[in-house]
Amino acid sequence: MQETALTERWRLPEAEQALLLSMRHDLHAHPELSWQEERTARVVAEALQALGLKVRTGIARTGVVADIGESGPMVALRADMDALPIQEETGLEFASKHQGIMHACGHDAHTSVLVAVARRLVADPPKHGRVRLIFQPAEEGAGGAIEMIKEGVLADTRPFAIYGLHFWSLLPTGCLSVTTGPAMGSVDHLEIVIHGRGGHAAAPHDTADPLVAGAYLVTQLQTLVSRRIDPMSPVVVTIGQFQAGDAFNVIPSTARLVGTIRTLEPETWAVIPRLLEEVVTHSVAAQGCRAEIRLSRLQQPLVNHEAETALVREVALRWVERDALRTRPMLAGEDFASFLDIVPGCFFFVGAGGASVAGAAPHHNSRFLLDEAAFDLGVRLLEEVAREALARESERCATAEEASVRHRGRHTTEGGAL
Ligand SMILES: [Zn+2]
Ligand SMILES: [Zn+2]
Repeated sequence: MQETALTERWRLPEAEQALLLSMRHDLHAHPELSWQEERTARVVAEALQALGLKVRTGIARTGVVADIGESGPMVALRADMDALPIQEETGLEFASKHQGIMHACGHDAHTSVLVAVARRLVADPPKHGRVRLIFQPAEEGAGGAIEMIKEGVLADTRPFAIYGLHFWSLLPTGCLSVTTGPAMGSVDHLEIVIHGRGGHAAAPHDTADPLVAGAYLVTQLQTLVSRRIDPMSPVVVTIGQFQAGDAFNVIPSTARLVGTIRTLEPETWAVIPRLLEEVVTHSVAAQGCRAEIRLSRLQQPLVNHEAETALVREVALRWVERDALRTRPMLAGEDFASFLDIVPGCFFFVGAGGASVAGAAPHHNSRFLLDEAAFDLGVRLLEEVAREALARESERCATAEEASVRHRGRHTTEGGAL
């Protein structure tokens, strides 16, 4: 009963909800991998054109952008569109029709929700300013955000703020996670090749064994976390691949380790390369080997800005109780961080795990599900965050304008006195 009352609170008019869900089901049934979101982009562009918006397509290959409003300060809202290489096993009526591809992160919902927000903003445009809708390709580790930025999505007009959301299956419906400051992890790809000197398995003293050096290194790397970094700053080092050797009686000449490092705070992210080099170089040197380190910095930590995050919290409290508002950073990466590097804003999580998340499948799982009752809340939040942000920015501009007129006035008077 209580759950019904909760979701009733933010429920959209039936016609709007029907449009949102039919788009979501259609996108869910036709998932597309990073950089291949051609059909998705077409569906989005057609829906926006039907609202009378001028739509730009083909930005960073499959990205779609449209603006609501003609002039004044601009706020941006972003949704991601790509799916994952996973074979769906949800048994949903609208399950993926594309073999081996699945919307297992909920980007189909993000896209449909942003189109629903557009519908509401077009029907009742904000009095001042503009809203830029950004539909981004390739969020799943493929750098879609940075490509859209390179193609000028924040440059022709610089939005004063940007907002985005992620539905979350491991958070109950009606709960939100809105975190000020560092909120999501950095993503580094790590590859270490250890060069030793191969030889006979029975004569290790004539070799430099890269396999033994590698085995030490896998455990030594954990001392980065436990001994070199402030324990109040979360870090994860995971080695996911360890390849060495071909025969039982041969000491190989190389070993290869591949893994990932995640950090939450930009300061910690910054010192990782130096600490990594120290640990790796000395650890393998102790075994008479030498290492080559290749660290690719795929994503910086996602850091939410204070004022913009406060605004999201304020709007959220119109719809949920204070105890439903959580603050919990996570180490998963999100390329919204690239937008936040340039424009202030906030990226937040909207619970979509149903009444209880016990037994819910996590994101990137073949049985991943979202509670559709949460979608309307996502629409309400993004819409109102955009409206509120524009109202405040317009007020701020008006005050600044007034102050400058007063200032100019004073000059005239002073000038007159001279
Ligand atoms: Zn994902
Ligand atoms: Zn995602």
